[in-house]
Amino acid sequence: MSTIALAFDLGGTELRGALVERSGEVVKRVSAPTLAGAGSEAVIGQIIALADRLLKEHPQAKVSGIGMCAPGPLDPKAGIVIGPPTLAGWHNVPLIDILSRQFGLPVRLENDANAAALGEWRFGAGRGAGSLVFVTVSTGIGGGVVADGHIYHGRRGLAAEIGHMTITGEGDRCFCGNVGCFEAVASGTALGRRATRLTKPGDGSVLRRLSDDGDVSARHVVDAARAGDAAARELVETEAKWLGIGFTNLLHLYSPDLIVMGGGLANGFDLLAPGIRATVEERAMQAYRDVPIVPAELGDRAGLVGAASLILWEGEPGTALAMVQNEQTKLGETTGASARSIIERMKESEGN
Ligand SMILES: [Zn+2]
Repeated sequence: MSTIALAFDLGGTELRGALVERSGEVVKRVSAPTLAGAGSEAVIGQIIALADRLLKEHPQAKVSGIGMCAPGPLDPKAGIVIGPPTLAGWHNVPLIDILSRQFGLPVRLENDANAAALGEWRFGAGRGAGSLVFVTVSTGIGGGVVADGHIYHGRRGLAAEIGHMTITGEGDRCFCGNVGCFEAVASGTALGRRATRLTKPGDGSVLRRLSDDGDVSARHVVDAARAGDAAARELVETEAKWLGIGFTNLLHLYSPDLIVMGGGLANGFDLLAPGIRATVEERAMQAYRDVPIVPAELGDRAGLVGAASLILWEGEPGTALAMVQNEQTKLGETTGASARSIIERMKESEGN
């Protein structure tokens, strides 16, 4: 059997575990509702129990290490979970130390958005790119930046907190305390809130019918827009404008080969894409306007396979990048074959 990693994606609501091959193939997946209120010892106990389950079912697996991702803030180099707001009782937990002592295996730790960025870069929508920005848009907005073949970490691994870049001076207060954060105006939560304010229970609108007269969610807005509802379409247009403004900032800051959008709102990517594109064309400087913006491909396994790659691909660039570079050397080409293949793939997905 080929080399395999144990991977864990620790979220505030769900703890996922998997055995992942070097190719990014998920051999076996398990999960449990995270005991998020019970403190770090209880959750680490869950991780150990899931690992036992995975290894019992695949006793012949040759596990070379454990790749783990968890919500930030965390310090990937020191292996310390600093204190995620979604997990009670986690303060400076030396997770790498604890797990490597427990299992006698090398352990690597990365924050969840960075791990998902790695997953999409090595095995998903970003294959072949030298640089990319991964943006996850759901309850909040998170991101990870692959710059010149590496995750961009910054001081203490805290870089790319893109949900909290200020993109306007108005709107609802973000949980971080500021007004005008990207997350506060463009997350799925923000979209749902706008839809809820626009309508009233019992008003007979499509949005309220879909929500059974409760609060309207981003999902309801996407579904209503897909069904042709005019109010929902307008909300989607506004949402796309905010995303386009945020993405324009990311283009100017990081000059990626592409932007990959994941998270729950990526379900509505086809509806949002024209508005995002129009905003980018309007606001980005000329040289940045042709950068593809594409939907993520790996869904909720991006974090798991990205975390596994911390072990199985340590120190190596993305798959297709290495392949493309080899091809280029063979052909004596110097042009950006990787960027070309991405643009071709984007055109294909637009045609669908
Ligand atoms: Zn904020």
